[in-house]
Formats: sequence, structure tokens, C-alpha cells
Amino acid sequence: MISLEQVRQQSKIDKMQVAGLIYGSQERAKEIQQFFLDCEKVPEVQTNADFYNWSRKKQFLSKDKQGFSFMKMINNKVDDMEQYTGPMIYSATTNHYGVYLGMVVPAVKILGTDEQIKAWLDDLINIRKAACYAQTELGHGSDIQSLQTTATYDKQREEFIINTPTIQAAKFWPGDLGILANWALVFAQLIVDDKNYGVQSFMVQIRDVETHKPLNGIEVGDIGPKIGYQVKDNGFLKFNNVRIPKFNMLAKYISITPQGNVIKQGDPKISYASMMMMRKLLNTVYPKAAAISLTIALRYSYTRQQFTNDSKIENSIIEYQTQQHKLLPLLANLFAVVLSGNMTSKFVDFNFNEVQNGNFQHMNACHSLLCGTKANYTHFVVNCAEWCRLSCGGHGYAHYSGLPSIYQEHCPNVTLEGENQIMFLQLARYLLKLLKTSQKNPQKIPEQFSLFKKIDQILQFKCDQFQFSNILSLLESSVIHLITQTGMKMMQEIQGGLNPKSAWDYKLGTSLWESANYFIEYYKFVCFQKTILQVTHLQTQVVLTNLLNLFGITILLQNPLTLLENDVVTQQTIKQMKDQYENLLTLIKPEALVLIESFCLADGGLRTTIGRADGKPYEYTYDWALNENSINQMELTSVVNQLKNCRPKL
Ligand SMILES: Cc1cc2nc3c(=O)[nH]c(=O)nc-3n(C[C@H](O)[C@H](O)[C@H](O)COP(=O)(O)OP(=O)(O)OC[C@H]3O[C@@H](n4cnc5c(N)ncnc54)[C@H](O)[C@@H]3O)c2cc1C
Repeated sequence: MISLEQVRQQSKIDKMQVAGLIYGSQERAKEIQQFFLDCEKVPEVQTNADFYNWSRKKQFLSKDKQGFSFMKMINNKVDDMEQYTGPMIYSATTNHYGVYLGMVVPAVKILGTDEQIKAWLDDLINIRKAACYAQTELGHGSDIQSLQTTATYDKQREEFIINTPTIQAAKFWPGDLGILANWALVFAQLIVDDKNYGVQSFMVQIRDVETHKPLNGIEVGDIGPKIGYQVKDNGFLKFNNVRIPKFNMLAKYISITPQGNVIKQGDPKISYASMMMMRKLLNTVYPKAAAISLTIALRYSYTRQQFTNDSKIENSIIEYQTQQHKLLPLLANLFAVVLSGNMTSKFVDFNFNEVQNGNFQHMNACHSLLCGTKANYTHFVVNCAEWCRLSCGGHGYAHYSGLPSIYQEHCPNVTLEGENQIMFLQLARYLLKLLKTSQKNPQKIPEQFSLFKKIDQILQFKCDQFQFSNILSLLESSVIHLITQTGMKMMQEIQGGLNPKSAWDYKLGTSLWESANYFIEYYKFVCFQKTILQVTHLQTQVVLTNLLNLFGITILLQNPLTLLENDVVTQQTIKQMKDQYENLLTLIKPEALVLIESFCLADGGLRTTIGRADGKPYEYTYDWALNENSINQMELTSVVNQLKNCRPKL
């Protein structure tokens, strides 16, 4: 059997150049690598091997120590989200105060006035005011405009009265609310003189800072067990006419005079700013969890042997084409996700800088792009964890493989911060708008969507003989055909008598979803392609180009129908693509280990027995079962006696 060390030595790529692309620069990659190495030496940040045998209460309590130890390691830079990359990858489970630091702090920074920031920010980032993000209610989540919690302005006392008028209006799901929070950023309908001014955000104290008991008029608690996510105290919250000062409405873009005059300014989308920041985090940090899955699955696939070859030597399972087909397209997709995530992140930062200067011009493009990438990436991470688990056979099913926990901890991300289907629909709405812009004002099309500037040219493209250099044009062609067909279908439905909203809701959903998802795949390809131009090491450039092509062909082969229907390709072209796909699997296989190890993950952060760096799956798996599994430490005589007492006497 070839050892992992031999596979590493035979690789032709410059690992640190690849790491530099992943983490933004080689210096940053080295910092992250060092962070992981430092983590290995700190017992408090390790997740105990026996964690998944523990009660939820014990799991929950263990996380505070781990979280604060991480904070110490990042020098308490709690308001700098970039600093969370290391801890989030290393701890894999969700951490306490994640929503609060990831959403409430940015919300106050972006939506608060200078006075509000001065009054609250220090207490917030030092976790004295631990606030949750209380938006979703039992009755409404995606449809934020229909939230029912009210904030009624009382002119006499210059206060807001926060109230939960119905059971549907009870806040439900906010993370950090059930146990940890003493404040909440509450989203409620602003009512002044019986007039509704839409959903706004309010800082409300919910628990006493010393005793942590709920304040008068507040009912609050944890909602109960979920799929994984055991250490997150998602909570419920009801208000019975709770009074808060006028000062507590976040007022940078909407304010109210003492007499009750409401003044709005800027783009209303700004109120989603903190959701956009959280989506940025989901786009840049969380996809690296898929690198954990793939590090484990690929290392295991090189070391695991089943069945013999012609020379009666056992094959490593990575030799099988089907195993490569399971894992290598995921590896290619991971690079596409991470490299496009880096570019999106820069665009988000640029947009928020512009917004701070009063320029909202990029808001729509940025919001739409984040919606689509969030939906595509979060789905990818969960899907990747599941395929990696399947690729590891029986051992993948055990928590000790490290794989089930990634699935569990990441499956909520497809729902939270905007349910994925709704996210795709938001992007699709923007794409349809761009069709119109392309006819009237093509110069107004943002760079990320520049293919809409050359629609006519794209629609004429044909490809009889497949070459790698055609992949980009084929992806462009798929996107533009899909979106123009959807636009035409919309017009036909409207001409047939449906109003636009009904056509959208009842006739176009699947076409809209497909167009938006395809656009994101195209966008990922473009970002991947642009990023690898920075690579100076020739062999590394060759391997990454193979990976890029594998990604592109995989996407094209998943849905060739649009290309065939529109005579862009022939069946022969599809066959050529399939042949190239198989060749690429063979070419990438020897480099897959070093490609994934360019993420520089450390064994402690992987929490696995089967995917460790030294490639000894059986030794660790047996050792953990024997020595780390607390079930085996039960005093069995009394347990068996108890069981016997339960059995019916025959
Ligand atoms: C683990 C977890 C943590 C969370 N943390 C927080 C938090 O900290 N703070 C907070 O405020 N909230 C939080 N949430 C709530 C979360 O944001 C919402 O659950 C999420 O936005 C989805 O909304 P929903 O539950 O209303 O789903 P729904 O909108 O009811 O979705 C149900 C189904 O209906 C479909 N659907 C709905 N409307 C349409 C439409 N117009 N067109 C097509 N299909 C449609 C959806 O695609 C989906 O398939 C959390 C949720 C989870 C699971």
C-alpha cells in the first residue's frame, strides 16, 4: 500500500501557493496553519472524543470554556469576523454567541447612530449586553414584512411599547436566546398614531444582567432539541407590553421625532445589512467545513483497501473510478466555492464602504449575489458531508469519523439566514431585471453580471467539437438560454391572463430556481478561473486548471438539456465532454491529497479517527472505541440487572 507520505512526496504542486489562494495570501495561510498548530497544544479548545455520548446539557456547558479559550487565542478581537476563520474551522460545532457577534454587532454598527454605537458597542463586544437577533416568529420567517410583533410609539412618555399580540407573533428560533442572551435585537412593526411604518429593529433588555431572570412582561426559554446543533440555545420570546426608551430603535436610516414624525433615508434594503454580513460569513468561512469532510474522506480513500488488482495486491479504494467520481468533483466544487467566496467577500466589503459614504448603487447587485451564493454554498457543504460519509462506508457513519457532526452542524445553514429556495428566487428576480437593463442601459450592468452585456453574442454560440476552452462559453450559454426562456415564459403567462405575481408564484418557480443556480455555478467558474491566473508555479497552475475544467464539465453534464434543446451542442459534444471528465478524474487523483491538504487543517480540528495526517485509521478507530467511549466505562452488572427487571416474566 502506498502511504499518505508517499502520495505527498509524489505530488508536483506547490502547496503553499494553493493555500495562499484559499486564505487570500500565503502570509494569512501561514497564520491559520499556525493557529491550528497552537490549538493542538491547548486542551480547552479540543472537542472531547466522547462529546457525542454526552447529554445536551453537558455538551452545552462544555462550549463556553472552548469559546472563551478561542477568544483568548485570537486576542479578544471579537468584533473582527475574519478572526473567526480559525476557531470556526477548528471547533466544527456551532459556538456560543455566534449569532450575537455575527449579526447583532454588525447590525448596531451599520444601522445604529453614532450615539447608539457609543452607548452599546463596547458592552456588546465585551458580552456584557449579550443580545440575540430576534426576527423570526412562530408564524412567519421568510416573509419578514408579515411579522406581527408590534412596537407602538407612545408620544407622552417618548417610549416604544413592544408587544406579542398573537401566538404566531411569538419570537421563535433566535440563536443564543434560549439561555445566554440578556438583550435582544427585536424586529417589530413600527406603529405611530395607528400608522404602520414597516419592520424596524429595537434593542430590548430581556433578562436582568445580574440574576439573569426574565424581566417583567417577558417570557423566554429554549425551544428544544434539533438535528445536531445541540450547543445552540435557539429560543422563544413573548412580550407583554414591554416599554423601552425611544433611543432604542436603531436609527441611522429611520428616525422618529418626539412628536412622532417618522423620517426615512437611504435604501430600505439596508435593514438587511446584518443578514448580508452573516451571509458573507456563511460564504467565506463555513464552506471550509467541506474541506474538513474532504480531508477525512480523501485520506481514508488512499489508506482504505478493498479487493485486489490483477497482481493480487489490494487496491486503495481511491483507485476505483466510482470513488473518484464521488469525491473529485466535490474537491473541484470546493475550490470553486472558496475562491468565488473570497471574491464575493471583497465585493461585500466594497459595497458597505460605499454605503457608509451614502452610495447605495451596488446594494442590489451585492444583495442578489449574496442570496444566490449563500444558497448554493450552504447546500454544497451539506451535500459534500453526506457524500463524504457515504464514501467512507461503515466507518463514515460513526461520529468518530468526524463526518456526521459536519452534516448535523451545517444542515441548518440551508434554512437560516434566508431559506435557500427563497434566496434563489431573490437572485432570479434580479437576473430578470438585468434582461431589461441589457436592452435599455447595458452600461449599468455590474461587473459580476457582465455576461448580460453580450446576450446576443452568447445566444449565437454553437459548439460541435468540445474543447476545454469552450467551457466558459457553454456555461454562459446555459445561463442566458435559461433566463431568457424564463422571461419569455413569464410574458406568455401574463399574456394568457395571469398577473405577474401569480405567474411568478405558481408557474415559474422551477425555471427561476434553475436559472439562479446555474448563474451561481457560472459565477463560481469565472472566479475560480480568474484566481488561478495568480499562480506562478507551472505544475500547480496545470493541476488547478485540470480541477477548474473538472468543475466546469461536471456542471455542464449535470444539465445538458438546455444546451441540447437550443442546438448549442450535439450528442457528440456531450460524449466528448464525458470522455474528458473521465480523463480528468485520472489526472487529478494523484494530486487530490495535497490539494485538500492545502487547507492546512490539523488533526485536532478534524476530530477524526479515519482521516488523520499519519493515515492510521484502524489504530485510532480501535483505540477510541476502547479507551474514549464512556459507554464502555459503565458498571455493567447493575445495568444488566436493571434490564433483567424490565423483562416480562415468561
Ligand atoms: C438552526 C436555526 C437557527 C436560526 N436562528 C435564527 C436567529 O438567530 N434569528 C432569527 O430571527 N431566526 C432564526 N432562524 C429562523 C430562520 O431564519 C427561518 O427559519 C428561515 O428564514 C426560514 O423561514 P421559515 O421557517 O419561515 O420557512 P418558510 O418560509 O415557512 O419555508 C417553508 C417552505 O416554504 C417554501 N416557501 C415559502 N415561501 C415561499 C415562496 N414565496 N415561494 C416559494 N417557496 C416558498 C420554502 O422554500 C420552504 O420550502 C433560525 C432557524 C434555524 C433552523
